[in-house]
Amino acid sequence: MSEEGIEKFIRPNLAAFGGYSAAKSPETLAKKIGIAAEKIIKLDANENPYGCSPRVNQALASYPYLSTYPDAGQTELRELLEGYTGIDAQNIVAGSGSDELIDLTLRLFIRPGDEVINCPPTFDMFRFSTQIGDGTLVEVPRDEGFAVSVRALKAAITKKTKIILLANPNNPTGTLTPRQDILEIINTGLPVVVDEAYYEFSGETVAPLVKQYPNLMVPRTFSKWAGLAGLRVGYGIFPAKIASYLMAIKPPYNVNMAALVAVRESLADVDYLMSTVKKIIAERERLFGELKKFSWLKPFPSQANFIFASVLKGETKELQQKLQSKGILIRYFDLPYWRDGVRISVGKPEQTDALVKALQEIGEG
Ligand SMILES: *Cc1c(COP(=O)(O)O)cnc(C)c1O
Repeated sequence: MSEEGIEKFIRPNLAAFGGYSAAKSPETLAKKIGIAAEKIIKLDANENPYGCSPRVNQALASYPYLSTYPDAGQTELRELLEGYTGIDAQNIVAGSGSDELIDLTLRLFIRPGDEVINCPPTFDMFRFSTQIGDGTLVEVPRDEGFAVSVRALKAAITKKTKIILLANPNNPTGTLTPRQDILEIINTGLPVVVDEAYYEFSGETVAPLVKQYPNLMVPRTFSKWAGLAGLRVGYGIFPAKIASYLMAIKPPYNVNMAALVAVRESLADVDYLMSTVKKIIAERERLFGELKKFSWLKPFPSQANFIFASVLKGETKELQQKLQSKGILIRYFDLPYWRDGVRISVGKPEQTDALVKALQEIGEG
């Protein structure tokens, strides 16, 4: 068979699928730009610049059970998460990152051709998982200030709508949707995902409402606040019925042993982790002030660990490339609705200083 021959067997929606444009690893870039990987300032993936709890490293160094499969029922993990969230273990499901839970949730509800309402610019994994499942993405773009128009969203609902996806705070914009608006969206009665990946930075949550609303789902993650992006562990707070469906369809060993240990140790060290969250929030405000000083940047106030800034002069991609050649990585997507902006993760103070200096040089040059 010729190589082209295999294509007719591939699902048509995937044969032409472009994938997700993930942040490049510093190791890959180091070679390309000729700067040592450890010197690269990585402000492109909303990772925690302070890393994880030191307790995680200690515990993993001597962990004796890596040769056994993790508990498919996630018993300890769900109990730990009950302790952290105050929400019953039966309402919680953990995943290999919250990315997996978003994917599983869409698989639970979407058949080919079903409609998924999305409010761009937003987290691109929403589009990714919808399209892999052959769902139809119905886009209700955010307004000038990146607010969701509940009126436009409701007008986009059809008989085929199966789920509404919302990140709160939103990635890449850092904006929060007012609680009243979220309630109005939930009251449509359609399944609604309110992704709270940045909950620890915003302090705002609708998670306790899963008890009242059988259609509300709230994924969260350890990647950002707890510095565990590399271990892939997230969880979601769901109505009990949806939680049991997700437990049934998830891959049995989806959360690995190292991730379980990391959650255990992180939750024993919440005070330390929240002290790093506080530092990041303080630095976010300083970064905002610094970005505002550039006449050619328009930063938007953020409730997360990153800032979105519109680039008012020159090409956005060019700015990202120029910073990259100086060893500073920021995020830019070539996507509709990004409105010529960049997303900059909040780093340590010295990283902000290096970024500001680089922006000054670029502005002058
Ligand atoms: C980072 C992010 C996630 C993914 O988190 P993982 O747990 O690392 O998969 C989910 N949702 C949003 C909005 C994010 O920004």
